[in-house]
Amino acid sequence: MLRRGLWALPLLISLAFVVAVLAWLRANEHNELEDQRMELISDALSLQVQVSARIEREAGLLDALAARLAAHPTTPAALSAGADVQQGLHRFWVSITWLDAANRIVAHLPEQSPPIDAAQWSASLAAGLSAHLSSRLPDGSTLVARYSPTDMLRQTVPWWLARKYDVRLVDSFGDVIASTTEGLRLADHQSHRIGLAPAIDDAYLELIARDRIRPWYHGLPIVMVAGFVLLIAVITWMLRRQVQSVSRAEEAWRTEAAWRSAMEDSLTVGLRARDLEGRLVYVNRALADMVGLEPEVLEGLMPPMPYWPPDSIEEIMLRHRRNMAGQAPREGYEAQWRHRDGRLFDVMIYEARLVDARGRHIGWMGSIVDITERKRLAERERRQSDTLAHHARLTMLGEVAATLAHELNQPLTAISSYNAGVINSMKRHAAPDPIVLRALERLGEQAAHAGRIVQRIREFLTRREPQLEACSLNEVVEGGVALLRRELERQRVQLVVQLDPELPAIVADAVLVEQVVINLVRNASDALGSVEQATGTERRIEVRTLPTGDERFVRIDVIDNGPGLQGRRIDALCAAFYTTKRDGMGMGLAICRSIVEAHHGLLDASDAPGGGACLSMTLPVDLQVTSLTPEEEAA
Ligand code: ADP
Repeated sequence: MLRRGLWALPLLISLAFVVAVLAWLRANEHNELEDQRMELISDALSLQVQVSARIEREAGLLDALAARLAAHPTTPAALSAGADVQQGLHRFWVSITWLDAANRIVAHLPEQSPPIDAAQWSASLAAGLSAHLSSRLPDGSTLVARYSPTDMLRQTVPWWLARKYDVRLVDSFGDVIASTTEGLRLADHQSHRIGLAPAIDDAYLELIARDRIRPWYHGLPIVMVAGFVLLIAVITWMLRRQVQSVSRAEEAWRTEAAWRSAMEDSLTVGLRARDLEGRLVYVNRALADMVGLEPEVLEGLMPPMPYWPPDSIEEIMLRHRRNMAGQAPREGYEAQWRHRDGRLFDVMIYEARLVDARGRHIGWMGSIVDITERKRLAERERRQSDTLAHHARLTMLGEVAATLAHELNQPLTAISSYNAGVINSMKRHAAPDPIVLRALERLGEQAAHAGRIVQRIREFLTRREPQLEACSLNEVVEGGVALLRRELERQRVQLVVQLDPELPAIVADAVLVEQVVINLVRNASDALGSVEQATGTERRIEVRTLPTGDERFVRIDVIDNGPGLQGRRIDALCAAFYTTKRDGMGMGLAICRSIVEAHHGLLDASDAPGGGACLSMTLPVDLQVTSLTPEEEAA
C-alpha cells in the first residue's frame, strides 16, 4: 500500500518546497515593508524639522519686518517700501496685511489680491489652521502674512525626498491643505503622518511612499511557482500512470510467477535447465526429490553430476556431449540415475532448446520422467502373460493327452479282447504253436501295459480337482478381461464389459472359469481379426454377465461382430482338434466345455443379433458337488 503511494512523494516534496518559497516571499515582503516604514519615519522626522525650521525662519523674517515698521513711522507706504516685503512675496507669501488694533486693514500688499478681512482672519484662527504668519507690533496693530502652503512645501522639500514621496500637509480631519503633487492620493502605499506644531498648529506633514512594495503574491516568482506546481502536477499524473501500469505489470508478473512455481512444484515431471556449457541453472522440486538433493545444491553444478551412477560416468559423459551438440533424440532417451541414498532408478529424458525472450538459444531444457515403476509393471505384465501362455499350453497339452488317452483306451481294450479271444480259440481248437501262443500272450501283455500307461497318464493329467469356492462371477470376468485388455487395444478391438451388479455369488473354481472367459474372448478377437471389417464399422466385443430367469443360474455372454458361426453348432466347434485357424489346435472350446460341464454348467453358441457369434456359458449358482472325479469330468 505504502509503495503504491510512492508516486505522490515527488508531488509532496515539491508542494513543501513551494510552501517554503511562498513563506520566504512573504517574510521578504514583510521585511521590505518594515524597512520602508523605518525609512519613511526617519525621512518624515527630518522633513518635519526642515519644514518647522522654514516656518520659524519666515516667522522670524515677519517679526523683523514688524520691528522695522515699529522703528519708523508707521504708514502704509512704509510697508511696501521694504525689500524684505518683496522678497517674502517672491518666496511664497501670497499677501501681507497690516491690521490695526481694531482689526481694520491699514495696508495690504499686493494690491490686486483680495485683502483678508477680519472675519476670515478670525475664522482661520478658530479653525486652528493657519496658512498665515502674524506678528504683533508694539502699538497693538498686527502684521499678517498669508502664504501658500503648497509653494512653501515645494520650496522646502528636497528634490530627492520629493521623488521618493508625495509630501502633503493635512489637517486634523485628513483634508489635504497642500501637496507636492497634484495627483490623487496613492491609496495602498505606505504613509506616515507627523504633527507640525508648534510651527503650524493643527497641521500634519504626511509622507506617502511613491514606491509600493509589491505584495508577495504578485510578480514573477509567483508565476514561476504556479508554473512549477502545474508542471509537477502534470509530471506526477504521468508518473502515477506509469507507476500504475508498472504495478499492474508487476502484479501480473507475480501472479504468473506464483502460478508457474505452483505448477512446477506440483509437477511429477522433473525439470532442469542447463546453459550452453551444461551448467545446471534451474531444477524444479520434482527433480530435486527424484535425486534426493536440494535445488540450491544442484543449481550451478557442472557435469559430472552427483546423480550419475559412478560406474557409467564415461558413457553418460558421451551422451551429455551429444546432447550439448543438439543431437539428443527428439523422442527422448532412457537413462539410469542414482538417488543420494544409492538407489538406482530409470528415467526418460526429453531435451529441448531453451531460448530467451529475444529468441536467442541460451541452453537446454530437460523434462525427466521417472519410469522405474512403469518398467517394473511392464516387466510384471510380460511375466504374467508368459505364465498365462505357459499355463494355457500345459492345460491344452493335458487335455490333448487326456483326449488321446481316452481315444486310445478303447482300441487298446479291443486289442486285448481280440488277443484274448484268439488265444482262447487257438487253445481250444488245435495244439497251438507255442511260439505263436507266446507271441500272442506277449501282445496281450503289451496291450494291457499300454492301456495301463494310458490310464495312468489320464489319471495324472486329470488329477487336478476344481478348487471350489464362493466367488463373484463379475470379479472373475474382470480379472480375465484385464489380462487381455492390452492385446485387444493393440488389435484396435473395442471391448465393452457390462456386469450386472446384482449377480449372486457362485460356487466355482475361479481360475478355471477365468480360463474359459479368456478363451472365449480370445476366440472372438481371433474371429474379428480373421476378416477385413467394412470401413467405418469398429471391431467390438461385448462381455456381459446376467442372471437367468429362475435365478438359479448365471450366464456370461461373449458377443462379437465378426464373421459369425456360419451354421456351425456348438458340438462341432467343441470337437477335439476342430479348428479353422492356420496355427490353431482346435482344443480351446473342447477344454472350455469340459470345464463348464465339470461345474454342471452349459456352454452354448449362437448367432449374435447384429451378425457375429455369441458364445454363452451358464453356471449353476449353488453347485451341489464339492469335487469332481476324473470320470465325471470325462463324462
Ligand atoms: P482354435 O482356437 O485353436 O481354433 P477352438 O476350439 O477354440 O480352437 O475353436 C474352434 C473353432 O471354432 C475355431 O477355429 C473357429 O473356427 C470357431 N470359433 C470359435 N469361436 C468363434 C467365434 N467367436 N466366431 C466364429 N468362429 C468361432
